[in-house]
Amino acid sequence: MKPISLRARLALWMVLVEALLLVVFTAVTIIILQNLQNQQIEETLRLSASELNAVVDVRDGNYAVAASETAAVRTRGIMAWVLSPDGTVVLTIGNAENYPLPADLPLPGQLNNGTLPDGESVRYFVTPLTEGSRQLGTLTLALPLGGSQIFTRQILLGLLIAIPIVLLLSVLGGVFLAGRALKPVSAITRTAQAISAEDLSHRIEMALPEDEIGRLAQTFNAMLERLDHAFERERQLTSDVSHELRTPLGMLKTQLSLARSRPREAAVLLEMMDGMEGDVDRMTRLVEQMLTLARVEQRGLAQFAPVDCALLLQEVVADFHAAAQGRGVALRLTLPLQVEFVLMADAARLRQVFFNLIENGIKYSLEGGAVEVTAVRQWQQLSISVANEGAGIPPEQIPHLFERFYRVDDARARATGGFGLGLAITKAIVEAHGGEIAVESGTGEGATFTATFLAMTE
Ligand code: ADP
Repeated sequence: MKPISLRARLALWMVLVEALLLVVFTAVTIIILQNLQNQQIEETLRLSASELNAVVDVRDGNYAVAASETAAVRTRGIMAWVLSPDGTVVLTIGNAENYPLPADLPLPGQLNNGTLPDGESVRYFVTPLTEGSRQLGTLTLALPLGGSQIFTRQILLGLLIAIPIVLLLSVLGGVFLAGRALKPVSAITRTAQAISAEDLSHRIEMALPEDEIGRLAQTFNAMLERLDHAFERERQLTSDVSHELRTPLGMLKTQLSLARSRPREAAVLLEMMDGMEGDVDRMTRLVEQMLTLARVEQRGLAQFAPVDCALLLQEVVADFHAAAQGRGVALRLTLPLQVEFVLMADAARLRQVFFNLIENGIKYSLEGGAVEVTAVRQWQQLSISVANEGAGIPPEQIPHLFERFYRVDDARARATGGFGLGLAITKAIVEAHGGEIAVESGTGEGATFTATFLAMTE
């Protein structure tokens, strides 16, 4: 069986609930109507009975009434039998002359329903015929129900005609409304169908309502946007890595061809091999950095343990001592005394953060300049900054600095041996430790990189 669409189901439920409401409404209407009619019938019967009681004249055992005095009662459709105390019909009023005294009568003072011999439904009322305190006989009244039954039937008929029309209209309205409400869902389906891994540019292009389904569509669009970015990033990465590998591979190939082109002396061959090794080293470095980045981004860190950052900084600064001296750069570390700098961290990765920042500081420093490494603790916040003097970074480049393969001055940076992955790795590690990294710089003003972490609470 074909499953019913959500739209049809919504409309169907609406109609079902409406039909149920209409049935209840009809039943209540009919009950109220019948109650009102019964009350009216009872009032008419009681009123007519008391009127007849007043006008029936009993003299020496003869019962009489003037036709003019029963006119009002007869116009109401009432018929009446007047019985003498021994139970014989002594007088009839209205249509009662055509019928014998009915058998299915209620007790005096009460009403009940009955049928005349010709099948007509009537309501009876029996009451004593009195004069003062004397009982002169019995009054039996009957009011045919034909008129009121027709009225009820017509109302019922009207409702039976109106209900299907209302239901039909609500089916149409329901299908229309459900269709309108679910339109963004169809748009989502179409968009999702149009999407392939190669083309994530599709979006739900319609004015979205501010409701649950509208928000679903907006969320879907936002998700596509993120996926599109992620795919774009991966594509860019593949192209960047290929690009970085192409140059050393090309050079390796050229040197190999050159080495094999004619017989050469061992010393020359060794020199050529040194060059080739340099290219292999460069490729190895690239692959290692890519692997590190991938691991850190996938939270592939070692178990966190308390790490004394002051000690770690002292070690890294000491490691760079010779390199700084070689470039004529003064490398200084400022650590406030007696301040705890303990972080929960992966020590090897944290060392890499300090290593990258100090290495860049020296690399991009002016010859004869200074690199200041400072650690500051404010409450639980621990900031480590590396400041260097030098060309600095133009403001428009700053937002891209931490992107993979981003180099400010491509040619110069390539010459210094970097791939533009160091800061991307640094940022990924800092963030994996719940920290943040920021840079302050301007053209010609040098640069200050600051990594901020939450220190361990004792
Ligand atoms: P690289 O391995 O090329 O140094 P990084 O990711 O470490 O890559 O740095 C990206 C770019 O940011 C560098 O190419 C350089 O242009 C710029 N940069 C990084 N640190 C500094 C600094 N201290 N001063 C000026 N520029 C810097």
